[in-house]
Amino acid sequence: MIRFSELPLRAEILAAIASQNYETATPIQEQAIPPALAGRDILGIAQTGTGKTAAFTLPILERLSAPRDGKPVVGRPGEIRALILTPTRELAIQINDSIAAYGAGLRLRHAVIFGGVGQKPQVDALLRGLDILVATPGRLIDLMNQGHVRLDRLEVFVLDEADRMLDMGFIHDVKRVVAKLPKQRQSLFFSATMPNEVADLAGRLLREPVRVEVTPVATTAEKIEQSVVFVPAAGKRQLLIDMLRADPSMHRIIVFTRTKHGANKVAQYLEKAAIPAAAIHGNKSQNARQAALEGFRAGSVRVLVATDIAARGIDIDGVSHVVNFELPNIPESYVHRIGRTARASASGVAIAFCDDGEERVYLRDIEKLTRTPIKVIERALLGSTGAMEVEIEASRPRQAAPAAKNPPSKNPPAKSPPGTRNPRRPTKASTPVAAEGDRRRPPSPKEAEQQRSRVKAPGGRPASAFGDLVAAINGAGPDHHRPPSHSNRTRRSSDR
Ligand code: AMP
Repeated sequence: MIRFSELPLRAEILAAIASQNYETATPIQEQAIPPALAGRDILGIAQTGTGKTAAFTLPILERLSAPRDGKPVVGRPGEIRALILTPTRELAIQINDSIAAYGAGLRLRHAVIFGGVGQKPQVDALLRGLDILVATPGRLIDLMNQGHVRLDRLEVFVLDEADRMLDMGFIHDVKRVVAKLPKQRQSLFFSATMPNEVADLAGRLLREPVRVEVTPVATTAEKIEQSVVFVPAAGKRQLLIDMLRADPSMHRIIVFTRTKHGANKVAQYLEKAAIPAAAIHGNKSQNARQAALEGFRAGSVRVLVATDIAARGIDIDGVSHVVNFELPNIPESYVHRIGRTARASASGVAIAFCDDGEERVYLRDIEKLTRTPIKVIERALLGSTGAMEVEIEASRPRQAAPAAKNPPSKNPPAKSPPGTRNPRRPTKASTPVAAEGDRRRPPSPKEAEQQRSRVKAPGGRPASAFGDLVAAINGAGPDHHRPPSHSNRTRRSSDR
């Protein structure tokens, strides 16, 4: 671990970092900042939450604030010296905010442009000339086509979240931007995974890059206490409300749904239950999205209900819980989602609601990718929808965990990044849920007895009260004498 003061950054930048209370560099910063400062191209395999924004921003600030011939270099009207391309508006805004924070003591001009809002202020900023522009691809291409953007004096190009650009269909826009860049430049390229198209782009973009890689997607979940609750789709909303009512430690929660419509419905349902909530997704206006984020940051919105695309890159400290209200069909999305909690060095809790259908398959794929069986907390149907059925860890197959069935060497998904992205998940029809084997098998009488004894609360009280579910999720569950989650994981893998 290196301290920032050991890095050759100017005093104003070091002071700004100190005012953020950062002391040591994160691994991606430690690896990327020195070569980037030396002018090298960087190929970074990292995702949000690793500190990668500062990893590319600090060298840019250092470079652009260096005087030439004893004088500060001033960007000319209409020109841009550094361009940071990023997939979502939220991420663009956050990067611009980080530039403002880290560059507070410098006199560099920076601006952010994205679609969905009027272009006039953006065009005005471009006309004045910018040291650093943060942009999403669509609006940038629009403004380029209108002749408002000149890239011929560009010194540094950053492509952030390249794999997400691919997912969101931006890859062609990105290629069109890249085609306009001057040949003489420094390029910094970041992606959480390296599907072929992204690797191909990196190959075209970068010159003898220094490759830096941290926290491959499959291992990012280390600091996160993960659990899954089996619950029919129809019982999920009530379960969510019951949890939120029972557990005050759930104070800043992101709930993920698969669809925009689903996000709206969950948010409305929570509001009706007097739980402050807001939905954030691609159909919301930019103002509504910002208002939701600001309310969430400030604490007036307790639950942010989000779809994947809107949530990507949301960087809000202190997210206590991530609830996967619906499991994603792409296992990497699960890892990105839960990464919204446990930011920087904090820890966090992630709870997945898994129904009886396709989600069982998604869950198995997630466990394969992360190589970690997710702790089964309880099978619960609560409130108006039915009685609770208790099914603690004994329901999990002891010998049939996916990673054990497929040792790493034969298990491509776990090894896939860098290189390949898992194909879209098969449908229920193409992959029978029955293939999951033990997970759906009813417990034998002996196992049922074990379950009963396991879910006894400390005082011998059966753990059927909802508070026990919440306590279990928080790691002090009904069988609170169990070792904490990390040792649980160890124990379970040795069981296999
Ligand atoms: P990022 O991966 O850039 O989205 O950063 C994730 C979070 O880590 C942000 O909230 C940053 O403010 C924070 N962060 C970045 N670098 C450091 C550092 N060296 N020490 C502590 N926190 C950091």
